[in-house]
Amino acid sequence: MSVRVRFAPSPTGFLHIGGLRTALYNYLFARHHKGTFVLRIEDTDQSRYVSDAEQDIIESLEWAGIQIDEGPHKPSSFGPYRQSERKERYHKFAQQLIEQDHAYYAFDTTEEIEEMRERLKKSGNPSPKYDSITRQSMKNSLTLSQDQVQEKLQQGDEYVIRLKVPRRDTVKFKDEIRGIVSFDTAGLDDQVLLKSDGMPTYHLANVVDDHTMEITHVIRGEEWLSSAPKHMLLYKAFGWEPPTMAHLPLIMSPSGGKLSKRKAETEGIPVNTKEYRFGYYEPEALINFLAFLGWNPGDDSEVHNMSSLCEKFTLDRVSKGGAVFNYKKLMWYNEYYVHHHRTIEDLLPQIQQMFSASGLKANDATFLKMVVTLLHERVSKVDEFVPMGRFFYEAPKDYNEKALKKWSDQSAVLVKSFIGRLIEIAEQEFTAVAIKHALEATVDAESVGFGKVMMPVRIALSGQSFGPDLFPAMELIGKTECLSRMQTAVGRLG
Ligand code: GLU
Repeated sequence: MSVRVRFAPSPTGFLHIGGLRTALYNYLFARHHKGTFVLRIEDTDQSRYVSDAEQDIIESLEWAGIQIDEGPHKPSSFGPYRQSERKERYHKFAQQLIEQDHAYYAFDTTEEIEEMRERLKKSGNPSPKYDSITRQSMKNSLTLSQDQVQEKLQQGDEYVIRLKVPRRDTVKFKDEIRGIVSFDTAGLDDQVLLKSDGMPTYHLANVVDDHTMEITHVIRGEEWLSSAPKHMLLYKAFGWEPPTMAHLPLIMSPSGGKLSKRKAETEGIPVNTKEYRFGYYEPEALINFLAFLGWNPGDDSEVHNMSSLCEKFTLDRVSKGGAVFNYKKLMWYNEYYVHHHRTIEDLLPQIQQMFSASGLKANDATFLKMVVTLLHERVSKVDEFVPMGRFFYEAPKDYNEKALKKWSDQSAVLVKSFIGRLIEIAEQEFTAVAIKHALEATVDAESVGFGKVMMPVRIALSGQSFGPDLFPAMELIGKTECLSRMQTAVGRLG
């Protein structure tokens, strides 16, 4: 039997980074086994539906290099791929469960259920349930006569369909990551399968779809583990073979606890894939990083592209414990991919566009190429080209505060001494080598270290205390402009 997995997000917002990792693990597993990766949109909760979410999910997966084999935009024989378009199936299967005495109609109003809970709480039951005991005194097709039930249905009375959860049973299954997991049914409500608005609950729709779409492995986040016993009961009631289960470890915040939206915000971690997409992150870096967020290949290797990940990925190397989101590590990957996988040629059009968008006249292709070449090894994310590259095009308007701390009492004198030597270099001989000689001469004459001269020169030219190699940068900027910026700084900073 060939492997079929699904990523089944609810379109309630933009694709979360945790969702992207779930999709990735499913995809890697599918490709490793030459199987199929399905995208199913679980849109049965109308109240939380966000209309752009589906588009965002598809675009985000594509950006990340995750190829969807079947989905709402790529239909195949298992469709439709939106649960809202599969309603009649859920009705049919819920009906089947009623006929086989695994489910029943329940006509109780919210008030009646509330009343039952209050009553039980008073008599000492702290968490009353609609279960095998209480169902016997409620208004449902198990307590009413067949005629009464028919009458209610014909009258159009509101109802839900509930699963008959067995009284005392232990649901046991093997999770590929956690091993044997067992739950006591005594803690479960008679799960609602079909809601009064005619929509299925997540549990019914999920099980019916996984079965009818012939999903072989369910790989999803740990937060769904507590739903798994309900799903197992449903598989049993239907008489279906359940898929293999694998619940992925939680993604943890560096300060501890689950990486919630709020936590991520305070710790400066972008949570939506969209923020990475439009924030100039390298998709390969994000994927490499996410792959290692709960999995490892079993050796020290760290850099893997998608095809290498597909080849290496197995569920037995996924960890049980929570995986901490280490943003520094992500940036390490990003830098690696910018340095090793982005060539100057491939960066040029993007950088030109970014420069132009921020008001820099980057029309001279040869000049731009030299700028990008000088900066390439310094940036860890491509949007850093703009702040770091600005000084090639214009004089600093002001000086960075931190940088200014490095401008000492001696600086003006030293810069002036350097200017004196630079003036002697002819315009067309103003090369990195000549500039370096001038600096060496200055340092010798003034008996100071290199940094004492270099740092104020850098500040004068760029307004910053860091940046690319100074000599080639000065050559590019040109003699007249360099001298003018240094004189300005001496005048302004003294
Ligand atoms: N719709 C659920 C979600 O939003 C699917 C969980 C599952 O994979 O079963 O993640």
